[in-house]
Amino acid sequence: MDNLQKAFSVAAPSIIAELKKRSMEGYYFETCSEMVEKILSMLPENASVAWGGSESFKKCGMLSALQAGSYQLIDRALAKTAEEKREIYGRSVMADAYFMSSNAMTYDGQLINIDGSGNRLACLMHGPKEVYVIVGMNKFVRSVEAGIERTRNLASPANVQRLNYKTPCHETGLCADCLSPGCICSHLVITRRSMIPGRIKVFMVAENLGY
Ligand code: SF4
Repeated sequence: MDNLQKAFSVAAPSIIAELKKRSMEGYYFETCSEMVEKILSMLPENASVAWGGSESFKKCGMLSALQAGSYQLIDRALAKTAEEKREIYGRSVMADAYFMSSNAMTYDGQLINIDGSGNRLACLMHGPKEVYVIVGMNKFVRSVEAGIERTRNLASPANVQRLNYKTPCHETGLCADCLSPGCICSHLVITRRSMIPGRIKVFMVAENLGY
């Protein structure tokens, strides 16, 4: 472990305690493989599983582990038409487990996320029985304001590059508070707590994941 990882590891117990106050569960791992192994041990066989767009979810090996397991995967990438996509979104809302990352997270246990269409955040807020949030240590910030700054000037411009949308931040790398057709910043959601205790589970790992 390098010193950044060590600093994160000693902060992890207090983050988990803060999450508990907010009726969310927190888990800490030194490596992605340990995290994936733990999540697989928590997921019932044959569970229906959906996920939102997330580089962290893929990079940590979670998607490939689910694909190799005995689960009912609800994969929107398989939709061929707009109607099929809509039907898959409907099934995602009813999933046993929904996977996502968070654009930022505070040390006191709040999640900060921004979405274009809002399907991912709709599932975070309501619908799937359980939500599994995978968060690399690079996503942690000291305040909600710092989290919003991170989403607008780091996560969203990087996502726009991935999606190749024509927005001001695609050209400059910085948020121009746009309202352009390709804008991926329609919904800004701060998750302060879970109404259903334990429904939202946060898996923190001392590795850099996503952006
Ligand atoms: S320029 Fe538009 S799309 Fe880019 S980060 Fe700002 S609001 Fe989001």
